[in-house]
Amino acid sequence: MIVDRQGRRFRNLRVSLTAACNYACSYCVPDGKRLVAAQDELSADALARGVALLVDAAGIERLRITGGEPLISPRLEPFLKVIGGLGLKDIALTTNGQLLSRKLAMLRAAGIDRLNVSLDTLDPTAFRSIARGGDLASVLRGMEEASAAGMRIKVNMVPMRGHNLDQVVPLLDYCLARGYELRFIELMRMGHLALDSNAFLRQFVSLEQLLALIGDHHHFQQAPAALDATALRYQIPGQGYFGVIANESVPFCRACSRLRLSSTGWLHGCLSSSNRHFIGDLLDKPRHQALPVIQRLLVKALADKQELAFSGGVTVMKVIGG
Ligand code: SAM
Repeated sequence: MIVDRQGRRFRNLRVSLTAACNYACSYCVPDGKRLVAAQDELSADALARGVALLVDAAGIERLRITGGEPLISPRLEPFLKVIGGLGLKDIALTTNGQLLSRKLAMLRAAGIDRLNVSLDTLDPTAFRSIARGGDLASVLRGMEEASAAGMRIKVNMVPMRGHNLDQVVPLLDYCLARGYELRFIELMRMGHLALDSNAFLRQFVSLEQLLALIGDHHHFQQAPAALDATALRYQIPGQGYFGVIANESVPFCRACSRLRLSSTGWLHGCLSSSNRHFIGDLLDKPRHQALPVIQRLLVKALADKQELAFSGGVTVMKVIGG
């Protein structure tokens, strides 16, 4: 097993199925331009072989499929078919939910039983100005249908001053009423925000500020979470839970077990590092040839992890796999 001096190893893999997205979220990208050429993206089979090799080489246990927007990719269904047989403990999907109604039957048939849906507001006007694509009603309908079909839903919201701070409590109440777990993600210094400190600081809402805002409306207490969990978890007695991924306020680098594989075949060991390691050319090699090379690259990727704190990076989340 590949382990670093702090005892960290890769357990959780995020695969970006495509860098393309039907949104252009204001905190993710400066505009909706395509950042990766379609012909540079790997096939479903190649990506699934990559996952299989990483399971063997790094001991990956859990997989999250992300992007870009995974539900717009024709690779999703064939990819799910292969990885379903890899013996992973958990396979989950992060989506903006826009196409959820249409893809629900396929996801259920592939054995997906939990989803993270990114949703930053319940206000249609704010939705348009943040997501810059899609429509709110389709996302809400998709979540309702997925929940009725038995899927567990977590909602990801990035609270931002000047955009959706007034939505923190309404969205929390909406989620509590429906049994969805809301997770607030502190705004991260990624992509264009890593290059514009003023824009970042203007919008950033800290854990403390967020909890104070929620505390004006709800009594809550901290709840236990898994050791390598990235989210702090809170219980509102009798109503449910919410979480906060406090990258800036309470960095979790010391316990980070994440590895990312991009849709073009690059491994990223850390969001804060611009280092990346190419495995795209190894995926059609026999296992005995590919595995030792991948193991050497994994040692490098693990060394890319920050010691203490998330410092951000210029890589765009939709390219690296958010
Ligand atoms: N399209 C899918 C979606 O919308 O969930 C998956 C990709 S998206 C890049 C994954 C997550 O990254 C979303 O929950 C989004 O809110 C988050 N994200 C992107 N840029 C971010 C930033 N600068 N700070 C915090 N979260 C960010």
